[in-house]
Amino acid sequence: MVGIIERYRHLWNLGPLDESNLVTLGEGQTPLIRVRTPWADGAGPQVFGKLEGCNPTGSFKDRGMTLAVTMAKQAGKTAALCASTGNTAASAAAYAARAGLKAVVVIPGGKVAPGKLLQVRAFGALLLEVEGAFDIALERLRNAIAERSRWELVNSVNPWRILGQESAAYEVVEQLGRVPDLFLLPVGNAGNITAYYRGFKRLGLIPPRFIGCQAEGAASMVEDRDIENPETVATAIRIGKPVSRSFAKEAVTATQGRFVAVSDQAILAAQAELAHQGIFVEPASATPYAVLLRLWQLGELPSAQTAVLVFTGNGLKDSDTAQRVFPTQKTAWDGSTAALDNALTADEVLP
Ligand SMILES: *Cc1c(COP(=O)(O)O)cnc(C)c1O
Repeated sequence: MVGIIERYRHLWNLGPLDESNLVTLGEGQTPLIRVRTPWADGAGPQVFGKLEGCNPTGSFKDRGMTLAVTMAKQAGKTAALCASTGNTAASAAAYAARAGLKAVVVIPGGKVAPGKLLQVRAFGALLLEVEGAFDIALERLRNAIAERSRWELVNSVNPWRILGQESAAYEVVEQLGRVPDLFLLPVGNAGNITAYYRGFKRLGLIPPRFIGCQAEGAASMVEDRDIENPETVATAIRIGKPVSRSFAKEAVTATQGRFVAVSDQAILAAQAELAHQGIFVEPASATPYAVLLRLWQLGELPSAQTAVLVFTGNGLKDSDTAQRVFPTQKTAWDGSTAALDNALTADEVLP
């Protein structure tokens, strides 16, 4: 399988690149599938979901990381470092391992999903923890590594990250055969919304109307201010000071879109509804579906024929939260058909 660099480098100016420095795990080419909605066909937009959890480490971060780590290697760097709410860390650790570079990840204390931490350990990166939110972790790391030219910061302030993430916009156009009317995605540090906006523009297309989706406890864009102590169950977007704030604002205003925040409760309900149609995403990734349903209920869903939701990360990553949403229910079975009859007519088994 060919990764996004080989598929899209003709659109980019990467400069000289020694092929032996190209670092890929076969990222990209994720499915775009129909999402069921409470409204009948024709009564609202046709909704599609981009399954970014199908990337090699289970999130869209791999699209940017392949390029950031490749360019770091090309430049002769020896280590990749990042601050992360989890998925950037998992991705950086994997691509650094692939590249033969050292990796260091700095995480906010106590609030990173266990699956992501496990990935970091499995890939052999050094895991450092700071007290406080993501924003503090990033600020400290940026200061600490400023004087070390052989170390590469692979957060989304790294321009290669954003450029690589544009590839998802190209794929949506290929898969749908056109630009969708509405585009909903979770916004944390605001790098991904920036990437999609630039991606459509790079293809010479008019970008869709962007709806940036946030959690109420970390609604930095909705409230247009920094949030000192962001809090939400959707840890991947538990960010108070988005680094790409101004670009995200532009993406939304230039397309007559908006930012919308929903409660943690609505996010977890959306996660469950998606799971009940076979789509298992982490809480942050359920936020766009929660926003879509909310706007629909309020009668504020802009008229649109097609809407795309970006399902940014895989549900298995945050098993702690998932255990609460989907508690394990084991029932002893005597091997009889009658017991199966009973179980299948009971309410716990979905249609
Ligand atoms: C990183 C991440 C986000 C937020 O993306 P930004 O570019 O920081 O806005 C959302 N969902 C998941 C699963 C993520 O890993």
